[in-house]
Amino acid sequence: SSTAADGVRVSATSADLDARAHRTLPGGVNSNVRLAAPKLYFERGEGARLYDVDGNEYIDYLLGQGPNILGHAPAKLQADVAAAVSSGMLFGAQHEAEVRAAERVVEILGWPDMVRFGVSGTESVQAALRLARAATGKRRFIRFEGQYHGWLDNTLANWDAEGNALVAGAGQIADYLRDFVPTPWNDLAAVRERLETHDDIAAIITEPIMLNAGSIPPEDGYLQGLRALADEFGVVLIFDEVITGFRVGLGGAAERYGVTPDLAVYGKAIAAGWPVSALAGRRDLMERFGTGEVNHSGTFNASVMATAAVLSATGILQETSPYARMEEYGRSLQELIRAAAAKHDLPLHVQGVPMAFHVSFSGGRTLKDNRDILACDAPRYAALSRELIRHGVWVAARGVWYISAAHSDAELADTEERVDRAFAAHAG
Ligand code: PLP
Repeated sequence: SSTAADGVRVSATSADLDARAHRTLPGGVNSNVRLAAPKLYFERGEGARLYDVDGNEYIDYLLGQGPNILGHAPAKLQADVAAAVSSGMLFGAQHEAEVRAAERVVEILGWPDMVRFGVSGTESVQAALRLARAATGKRRFIRFEGQYHGWLDNTLANWDAEGNALVAGAGQIADYLRDFVPTPWNDLAAVRERLETHDDIAAIITEPIMLNAGSIPPEDGYLQGLRALADEFGVVLIFDEVITGFRVGLGGAAERYGVTPDLAVYGKAIAAGWPVSALAGRRDLMERFGTGEVNHSGTFNASVMATAAVLSATGILQETSPYARMEEYGRSLQELIRAAAAKHDLPLHVQGVPMAFHVSFSGGRTLKDNRDILACDAPRYAALSRELIRHGVWVAARGVWYISAAHSDAELADTEERVDRAFAAHAG
């Protein structure tokens, strides 16, 4: 028995709560992404660690699917948001902090002129696509096999090994999948071919580092090549930086690879755990919202909470600049996993940017695109992830490991010991 964050006594175990949840929450969850994970109930997060109602402690490498870049409950962020909302939450009108938050984002990123805040990555992606359609008068967009741009009908897809996009579930309108032209990632010739054979392309949208299927960096010159093709064919280049933004460096992947998109979508780390997204872009595109030519709305956009969270989180990231440290931690963690895999004779493959890397049973292959991902032994990795969780390492079943600024030497040492025991259990 313990006390939950809202002060309510919690005497149930995760199993009790899961059974109860199934009566009022479909599948016991509020996001289908969570169906695949063990149904643990967390009571508290602190720094890089999570605590469940069963009395277990975990080192967290899921970080809420990426947002908690400062770790759990960072004191200054929580205090700044609490102070801001003490004078109101939502005005349905303008307030100074939204101007400062937009100025901050523009200043940090450098390349965009303007910003529109939203609540989720899913909806800001839609705003970007709508702008691109308005600017070009065209309907479709090139997107890449295995990438994720939210759960709505025109972006959600399951992929087969031939690169076909299939509806991901019942009720999804299959016709909307025709809005995009599926294209393999890291293959500029394929993008050129699509642009030459389709005259109805408004945009190319890409995760600048493929992070929803592996952690696959762009090959040298790939993003530059997309930029050049977008210019040559007069289509809008959209970076979906929902994961990479404020994570792979303060300026995200655009800064890391030195390539400037026309529009970019941010979410997750931009507010370090509070629900905020942003669309940033060039003035000539973004002003279409301002003139009313293109609609983008939202009751909760740029709430007091959201703008306070953006200002506080980005301010902390600017002041503390944790990226070099996170990169070093991530590299050490990658090495530790490789060493433990070798010790226990597990054919694990580790790759990707240290702040969000990927572990798989890839059969020894380096992953270059989604077809390589589909060839991995995903059920075996999911089983390994459950073993890691049993040993106090909270990770996603799909192979991504996120690092936060709160991960320190103590977490690395504990992780080493836990990974060793988890791998031994899996191997044995
Ligand atoms: N784009 C990318 C690259 C994402 O990873 C995600 C979420 O994981 C989204 C868009 C959708 O963001 P949200 O879940 O905030 O709607």
